[in-house]
Amino acid sequence: MSTAFRVGRRRCVKIIAAAPATATSLVGLVLCASVAAAELVSETDPAAMKLKYKADATKAPERQDPQAFCDNCTYYTAKDGAASGACAALGGRPVAAKGWCTAWEGYRDGPFERMMTATI
Ligand code: SF4
Repeated sequence: MSTAFRVGRRRCVKIIAAAPATATSLVGLVLCASVAAAELVSETDPAAMKLKYKADATKAPERQDPQAFCDNCTYYTAKDGAASGACAALGGRPVAAKGWCTAWEGYRDGPFERMMTATI
């Protein structure tokens, strides 16, 4: 999890606590919702733990392919060069581009590629 997101969440809580029940509170709520939506999946998240997800792929002892990262996984979607993206295996929640988990499947070996190269 990024420290920037933690600081952002704390700041949001302070804004809401300090603001009177006015439009300022509503602005704070909207800001908090956007911070929460962008927060990366934690390694301690139950679904992530089942897949042994690591935000830093190099720290995953089960990883065999040194070229395997979230950003080249079939289940990953993001803009090119983004530091994080959505993982379909984790409900579309954001994961680190340089993360990895046991569900990793490279594009080369994905279901579409297998279907296209299958012999009839
Ligand atoms: Fe990353 Fe792919 Fe695992 Fe999702 S399924 S956490 S994109 S390696």
